[in-house]
Amino acid sequence: MGEEKNVLTREHAKAHDATDAFARYREEFYLQPEVIYLDGNSLGLMSKRAELKVAELMDSWKTLAIEGWTKGKYPWFFLSEKLGAMCAPLVGALEDEVIVSGSTTSNIHQLIATFYKPEGKRTKILADELTFPSDIYALQSQIKLRGYNPDEELLRVKSRDGKFLAEEDIIVAMTDEVALIFLPTVLYRSGQLLDIKRLTAEANARGICIGFDACHSIGAIPHHFSEWGVDFGVWCNYKYLNGGPGSVAGLYVNKKHFGIYPGLAGWYSSKKDKQFDMEHTLDVELSAGAFQIGTPHVLSLAPILGSFELFAEAGIEQIRQKSLKITQFLSDLVEQELEGLGFSIGNPQEDDRRGGHICLEHEEAIRICKALIENRIIPDNRPPNIIRLAPVAFYTSYEEIWDTVQVLKTIVKEKQYEKYSKERNVVS
Ligand SMILES: *Cc1c(COP(=O)(O)O)cnc(C)c1O
Repeated sequence: MGEEKNVLTREHAKAHDATDAFARYREEFYLQPEVIYLDGNSLGLMSKRAELKVAELMDSWKTLAIEGWTKGKYPWFFLSEKLGAMCAPLVGALEDEVIVSGSTTSNIHQLIATFYKPEGKRTKILADELTFPSDIYALQSQIKLRGYNPDEELLRVKSRDGKFLAEEDIIVAMTDEVALIFLPTVLYRSGQLLDIKRLTAEANARGICIGFDACHSIGAIPHHFSEWGVDFGVWCNYKYLNGGPGSVAGLYVNKKHFGIYPGLAGWYSSKKDKQFDMEHTLDVELSAGAFQIGTPHVLSLAPILGSFELFAEAGIEQIRQKSLKITQFLSDLVEQELEGLGFSIGNPQEDDRRGGHICLEHEEAIRICKALIENRIIPDNRPPNIIRLAPVAFYTSYEEIWDTVQVLKTIVKEKQYEKYSKERNVVS
């Protein structure tokens, strides 16, 4: 016999907020009055510390000009390395295994160009059919650049139900024809968290290089890339890491690969003390820094400095605890309050298999999202039927979650969504 479930009320939400160790971080962020922001998995909110660091770096440009590369509080020449070291605890890596540089997609190109070494019958790249399109486009074009046909060399593990991947299916596909594996940590639609440790162990045992795209787990979930033996990883800094629109991305390379020649080399791939020797022979840096290409985007690195400070203070384990608790609260409320209204939860239920967002399915997802936005609740929408809701540890309150579910109930009960068109917006 199961325990009888308590009926959840607004009072429960208030009680959780009153004891929430993260409540004090809300004032660190620019929350807009009367807006409930649940899209931090797509674009994290601006923090006051991020704003401050932008001002500081603007000032270093104003007052130091060219000397800013080596002088001031944050010498620009070493900023990507400094941020890499600050980010290392979030992926479970050594400080010099991480660099903040490039964009997610350009870093995928860089690391596939570096680690994809088709040889003999090992020519294939193993990915999956649920992954983010940009990752697939990058893999396809890297295969083409080697003179191969992506239709033959790119393997995409199939999903059994269109939502999740089975680790067993991925492992079975790790054959002796596979040269490289590239997978997401968390699936961007269903929020499924893959068993990174197990997949890495299986790839390592077969001598296959394995990399992960951690865009949907970085800043929400702890990782142990070094300890697990992950070969490389990429992520963006503008989702849960709150680094600002188009902020510079991050990458990780296991130290056993230090010294490998970067697939896409540039003068920033050089040992830093040799870079200004201006030699035509590249002396590759012995760290993740080797996978930089050119001059860092200093002004777009600035907000990340402020944001990483907050992560260092709060701790990623504590962030995960709050994230699990508040997403569970949302799930429980969906079950209790929205029963019979056509909603279902599309993410895995088990804590060790789910990421930071709730995947809420409804056949009217597009129009419900438009109605939510008119009610000043910001979700995002993945066609055809997914409403993604991300309660973010730093700035989402339990009472906001309560309110969101009440508004969802009204939108569907009163059929408020019917006044909107079924077209998705250009950015959704
Ligand atoms: C957000 C995201 C991207 C975005 O790539 P950009 O190069 O930053 O545009 C790529 N892949 C995945 C899995 C993502 O979630």
